[in-house]
Amino acid sequence: MTEHAERSIAIIGGGPAGLMAAETLARSGHAVVVYEAKPSVARKFLRAGIGGLNITHDEAYAVFCTRYGAQQASLQAMLDRFPPAALRVWVEALGIATFAGSSGKVFPEGMKAAPLLRAWVQRLRALGVRFQLRHRWLGWDENEALLFDTPAGSIHVRPRATVLALGGGSWPQLGSDGAWVPWLREKAIAVAPLQSANCGFDAAWSEHLRERHAGANLKSVVLRFTDLRGHTSERRGELIISQYGVEGSLIYAYSRRLREAIEANGSATFTLDLAPDRTEEQVSMAVRHARGARSLASHLKGRLNISGVKMALLWETLGKDAGADPGRLARRIKALPITVTATRPLAEAISTAGGVRFSEVDERLMLKVLPGVFLAGEMLDWEAPTGGYLLTACLAQGVWAGEGVRAWLDLIPKA
Ligand SMILES: Cc1cc2nc3c(=O)[nH]c(=O)nc-3n(C[C@H](O)[C@H](O)[C@H](O)COP(=O)(O)OP(=O)(O)OC[C@H]3O[C@@H](n4cnc5c(N)ncnc54)[C@H](O)[C@@H]3O)c2cc1C
Repeated sequence: MTEHAERSIAIIGGGPAGLMAAETLARSGHAVVVYEAKPSVARKFLRAGIGGLNITHDEAYAVFCTRYGAQQASLQAMLDRFPPAALRVWVEALGIATFAGSSGKVFPEGMKAAPLLRAWVQRLRALGVRFQLRHRWLGWDENEALLFDTPAGSIHVRPRATVLALGGGSWPQLGSDGAWVPWLREKAIAVAPLQSANCGFDAAWSEHLRERHAGANLKSVVLRFTDLRGHTSERRGELIISQYGVEGSLIYAYSRRLREAIEANGSATFTLDLAPDRTEEQVSMAVRHARGARSLASHLKGRLNISGVKMALLWETLGKDAGADPGRLARRIKALPITVTATRPLAEAISTAGGVRFSEVDERLMLKVLPGVFLAGEMLDWEAPTGGYLLTACLAQGVWAGEGVRAWLDLIPKA
């Protein structure tokens, strides 16, 4: 066992939040060491780049900030310090142009994470940041030093300050596994249970629907849901019918509200409008229109362009005699109920809800019970939909925590 009396600042977790804290501190001349459990940094960030790295969102800033829901107030100062416009300037300073897609999603040119990460790590090295890879933090030892498991055995580190940026608990194979939760709880730090966010949900499909339609994409439908507070909202988008239930961007957008409703009531029911470009009256007229010898299926396909998985869902909820009551069928087309009973496991979720409660940190993101230990990123108790909001908040918290460390160190009398 080696005792390292480091005089540098320890950043634990080399994801976007940790790397940004490292950059902020290194820029002001501090010695910084990034400790990362995996053999390379930012694996989730790299994975995020596979479907197109949506780094932030281009929309009115006031609207942007509302995407953080109940935690907007906790995050506001950090977002103000590093808003989407500053984030884009930062990416561009790494030599990578950014562009906004038609939906407002902002991507780096080429949409990949790897070139950005390469340039970023190069810049960090140039700033003097040291990387200790394959260093898994295991909490604090009996003398309150940081304890790491490394290829060379255990090491104990006493840095000048620490930034914990360990991420949440989703996709644990990429590094963030939530193992830190009990270590912080042992210090009497309140941690809200880690839960799935931006996730799929279980629904009890029939064997037929599962076998024939799992993987089908429902495009351009409108999801309507009344949340626990009685607030009804609707949104157009697409979702996927999966083996176990539903997933996809439209579902992710409602994942917090659906999860809360399931927690309270055991299940949550939303409706889908399968023909959102037609009024209920138009749908009703189309359904009732004389169909001659045509089957109901070809009638609905011809009149309303409803077929495939949409048709299967109607059959699923109405049964074989779906056509017996045209009024009921028309209402179902405009409001098809889908009941979900559970979130998919955290390991499959895009992101994590829960984490260290904001009441445990001061305005600089320093733990109140552990002076000198700061937090940043998904390990804090906030959540946001997909669309670039996650990375923006992680990076903004990295800047904030880094500046927090700097300000805190400035207060300590020099020896
Ligand atoms: C498939 C997928 C796609 C995504 N796409 C997007 C997107 O397009 N846009 C967007 O905004 N967000 C996206 N996200 C979410 C985004 O990647 C995360 O919100 C973000 O990476 C969280 O950053 P973080 O720094 O807080 O944590 P992480 O990125 O999870 O980094 C934490 C780091 O800490 C390390 N670590 C954990 N425990 C220890 C330990 N004990 N000791 C040492 N090191 C440890 C981990 O190995 C990891 O490197 C996506 C996520 C997934 C899974």
